[in-house]
Amino acid sequence: MRALYWDGRELRFEPNYSIARSRIDDRGSTIVGATSGRQPAAANPTALVKIHLAGICSTDLQILKGYMGFTGVLGHEFVGSVSEGPGEWIGKRVVGEINFGCGDCDNCRRDLSRHCPNRRVMGIVNADGVFAEYVSVPAANLHLVPDNVSDEEAVFTEPLAAAFEILTQIQPNPGDEVLVLGDGKLGNLCAQVLRLTGAKITALGKHEDKLALIKKSGVRTMLLNDWQPRLFDVVVEATGSASGLELALSAVRPRGTLILKSTIAGNYQVSLAPIVINEINVIGSRCGPFADALGALMAKQVSVTPLIEKVYSLADGIDALRHAARPGTKKVILKP
Ligand SMILES: [Zn+2]
Ligand SMILES: [Zn+2]
Repeated sequence: MRALYWDGRELRFEPNYSIARSRIDDRGSTIVGATSGRQPAAANPTALVKIHLAGICSTDLQILKGYMGFTGVLGHEFVGSVSEGPGEWIGKRVVGEINFGCGDCDNCRRDLSRHCPNRRVMGIVNADGVFAEYVSVPAANLHLVPDNVSDEEAVFTEPLAAAFEILTQIQPNPGDEVLVLGDGKLGNLCAQVLRLTGAKITALGKHEDKLALIKKSGVRTMLLNDWQPRLFDVVVEATGSASGLELALSAVRPRGTLILKSTIAGNYQVSLAPIVINEINVIGSRCGPFADALGALMAKQVSVTPLIEKVYSLADGIDALRHAARPGTKKVILKP
């Protein structure tokens, strides 16, 4: 199949990538159609998903800078249809959760497979991703896409779920003042999701055009140049850059909450004293509930397609990633 392969140094378009290399089951089974012909383990059946659309995420760009030391097919945001696997899934339009837990450890048994120490993560840790014609995914990770949700909307399920993770961690009260730092894709989705709580959301960013997009969803916006220091009950750091952290810390009221959404490759020095002095709750926040994201898309509570910058064919994937890496770019999509 065609795939975008990252070997740790170079990103290549491979016209004949072997899907057998994307085996995801340790217990010796390979996906259906792989060269050995063995069937998937019954306990954890695997589905082969034909990719309709795949989204390029800043995590993919971080990987190209060395994040997680990953090699393999990149990509973890997708919508597709099941071509092989358990009968009830065949032909169904799906999205898929990206963490593949071992199923055996304490975390997996507590339904926290996203935190399994032995997990593989699609396109990020030891599992091939979705910048390809097909991806193999444990069937347990799949979610059905409702009929009234288009492929262009569904491809945002994973990042939208990451925004919904915030609401599993804190419940802002209506009227609470919430600052979302960052007007990029993640900042936009976080602002839209937090708005659903009735809290008063302010989005702070550097780009007038992107803030205008956020404003359309009923969120108050402010340019960084116009920023006057003030305090918020909750601050969500979603700038995607380490430098946002200092401003974020300075904007949390005493006993307020700081949510960290940016994953950054590399180290950054910041004084932790304000956290102690102001008794700030700091919460790391990563992947979230797909069901909540699909529910919001189905109910048209959030608007995601205005975030699409451009759709590229997979063969032009290297150009697409280059485009996605330009500062200020919205979501770049690949179509195999
Ligand atoms: Zn992502
Ligand atoms: Zn586990």
